[in-house]
Amino acid sequence: MNITWELRDYDQEFFHRELDSFVPPKVFDAHAHLYRIGHWGYPHAVSAGPENATLDEFNRQMEWIMPGREVTGLFFGVGFHDRYMESNEFVAQEALSRPGNFAEMLVPPELDPEQMRETAKRMGFHGLKVYHTFLKQKPTWNAEIPQYLTEEHIRVAHEENFSITLHMVKERALADPENLHWIRHYCKNYPGIKLILAHAARGFNAFHTTEAIEHLRDLDNVWCDVSAVTEAPAMEAILTTLGPKRLLWGSDYPLSHLRGRCIAMGDQFVWLYENTLDWKTISHTGIQPYFIGHESLRSLKHAVRTLRLTDTEVEGIFYTNGREMMGVR
Ligand SMILES: [Zn+2]
Repeated sequence: MNITWELRDYDQEFFHRELDSFVPPKVFDAHAHLYRIGHWGYPHAVSAGPENATLDEFNRQMEWIMPGREVTGLFFGVGFHDRYMESNEFVAQEALSRPGNFAEMLVPPELDPEQMRETAKRMGFHGLKVYHTFLKQKPTWNAEIPQYLTEEHIRVAHEENFSITLHMVKERALADPENLHWIRHYCKNYPGIKLILAHAARGFNAFHTTEAIEHLRDLDNVWCDVSAVTEAPAMEAILTTLGPKRLLWGSDYPLSHLRGRCIAMGDQFVWLYENTLDWKTISHTGIQPYFIGHESLRSLKHAVRTLRLTDTEVEGIFYTNGREMMGVR
């Protein structure tokens, strides 16, 4: 089976049954990518989707996931390689073309800090998006945070009050002592930064987040986005430990439009996509994989219901928290 890119009747039926009464009318997406397909720099599964993921295309596509919602957000590119500036130029032009939207600049670790400051301010960026695959030495799955988010960049971000979206790596993510050390060190010593730990503090194996989130309780400049997370426990741990104002909804568009789930397996996690296996072989009734975006919304709904959050707190996760973090109401 190939990767598909389409809205199906059962997606619409599922949204109306499970999610329509949960998702508020106004949504701030704290983690979404805009791109031309070539910006990826390698053949990506999302090639089945739009060639040019402009802001307009993003808004049209979000109609599949949450029809009728007014969606703004915090955007960044996908070019985590030498030609990253093409990706930044596209995102700055698109994301900042309409009010209510914000953007982060892709920043390779070797970029001169003053050049980074000047470029980000000139182009209108509100923060930084770092990523381990910028590192030349492969593989990068065990990189330490300062290798791809340097202290010099953190100092500039502190002075400029930038947000930073951090997708940490290493096997046990937040439960890794070095990762925890650097998050605490940066947040404590550079209070001007707004650190967003992507993917529920990379809680793709939720137990890594539930084990360690307590160590972030005293930090008041850390947030977590729920992007592409399709299980509830990491979301619940963040909500109970950091509080409902620190969780941000994010789609991780375009990954939101792939079908499947990410589940904990042992001390790791595994992504199951529609083309990972022949679903007929494991269920005689036939499994129909849903959008990752819908799986994530269902998990968030479960977390919110279990913890009995108020409507205002839910609106915070979907809209107000992200905007307040960016300094607007
Ligand atoms: Zn992402």
